[in-house]
Amino acid sequence: MPDMSPDEFTKNGHKLVDWIADYLNNIEKYPPLANVSPGDILKRIPQTPPKNGEDIEKVLVDVDKLLIDGITHWNHPGFMAYFNSTSSMPGILAELLSAAFNANGMLWKTSPAFTELEKAMMNWFRQMVGLPENYWGIIYDTASTSSMHAIASAREQLNLCIRENGMTGRNDLPKLRLYCSEHAHSSIEKGAITLGLGLNGVKKIPVDENFRMIPEKLEQAIKEDISKNVKPFCVVATVGTTSTTSVDSVEELAAICEKYDLWLHIDAAYAGVTAMIPEMKWVTSGWDKADSIVINPHKWMFTPMDLSIYFTCKPDILKRAFSLVPEYLKTQVDDEVENLMDYGIQLGRRFRSLKLWFIIRYFGVDGLAERIKIHITLAKEFADWINNEKDFELLAPVPFSTVCFRYNPGGLSEEELNQINEKLLDEINKSKTIFLSHTKLNGRFTIRLTIGSIRHERRHIFQAWEVIKTLARSVS
Ligand SMILES: *Cc1c(COP(=O)(O)O)cnc(C)c1O
Repeated sequence: MPDMSPDEFTKNGHKLVDWIADYLNNIEKYPPLANVSPGDILKRIPQTPPKNGEDIEKVLVDVDKLLIDGITHWNHPGFMAYFNSTSSMPGILAELLSAAFNANGMLWKTSPAFTELEKAMMNWFRQMVGLPENYWGIIYDTASTSSMHAIASAREQLNLCIRENGMTGRNDLPKLRLYCSEHAHSSIEKGAITLGLGLNGVKKIPVDENFRMIPEKLEQAIKEDISKNVKPFCVVATVGTTSTTSVDSVEELAAICEKYDLWLHIDAAYAGVTAMIPEMKWVTSGWDKADSIVINPHKWMFTPMDLSIYFTCKPDILKRAFSLVPEYLKTQVDDEVENLMDYGIQLGRRFRSLKLWFIIRYFGVDGLAERIKIHITLAKEFADWINNEKDFELLAPVPFSTVCFRYNPGGLSEEELNQINEKLLDEINKSKTIFLSHTKLNGRFTIRLTIGSIRHERRHIFQAWEVIKTLARSVS
């Protein structure tokens, strides 16, 4: 029984590429945020699968008919929520090719070009962000996975035989503790849950007025734990926190890690790519003292989901934690090559490095850096507008491309301000022109605007500001 015929594939493939080009070119005709209720899309899909095959053209038509109004358009320049992740056309082409090869990079032998292109791209990207040569890189799906592997490595380094004996039912194990700031991403706690450290295995350290982990408080917590026979093993520093994009002082945290012999992991999922910009080199201060670092090109480097890069200067420990080779996966070249399955929990892996190869070659390092730099400049300009408007205020510094602010017309209590800003955000997102998200900073409801789309131009930021100002004055 055959696959789709080459003629049919070519015809529909061209049609789909045309559809994608048209979609991206006219994306502003859609609202950025989907306007459907829970269950609306599910209702449109038949409850049982088709017994007989259907024409693929019918499926393509149904993308417009059944799905499109349930899509939140991450590629829309009005999408300024969370950390916007946008796909670029070279990245889309690479995804198509990846599906065509369908190569599984579990072993070198199962596709030598897969393993070696990934190695080459890790070497390129390492240089792009200015890391020394002793950092080895691998691609995982998400930062959550990358950080989980960092925590697993930190634990493996303790030589507690956890790989062999696990953690349960053992009275020879101390309680282990990991430290991160109150503003660290939830993925760190999820990693701790996954690895059996538990949420209580994570201690959240308070932050200063600029939302940076206070090093003295970290050292205090470590000392206190040691005095109670709890074993500190890992510190996660965040370079670009999720709420405010604050940057922990890696240099100071690294000194503490050195003193107490702790694994230092840097979560730079969002902001790490800014290291490509010559004027932003300060963000990498202290990185050469880290044991591991995660950066997500799928956040701010125009790479379609998903692609997270994990660097470590101790790949041997990662391998020691995870390598397990059954007979059927042994090959004759195992001594000469790197088999990527040895460096994590997954066996099968997608050919993600193609996306980096296409994107870095198409835009060039300067082209990528320039685009990211423009976003930072636009965010600073937006922050200036906020600062110069009497009834608005910034609620956090703006080191990158995310601005935290609120409407504050004066004379209102904190509680009233929270209510009015929550209402304002709701109105903004109902306007169908922009999509913003929020956070809470010291109990204050905070509106967050992020710039980072490959389609962001100054006019979009200006329009967003007009919408925000107009709606603010109508909710008050
Ligand atoms: C987005 C983000 C994450 C999680 O990234 P995923 O790739 O979605 O797992 C982790 N840490 C920080 C700082 C982030 O901004």
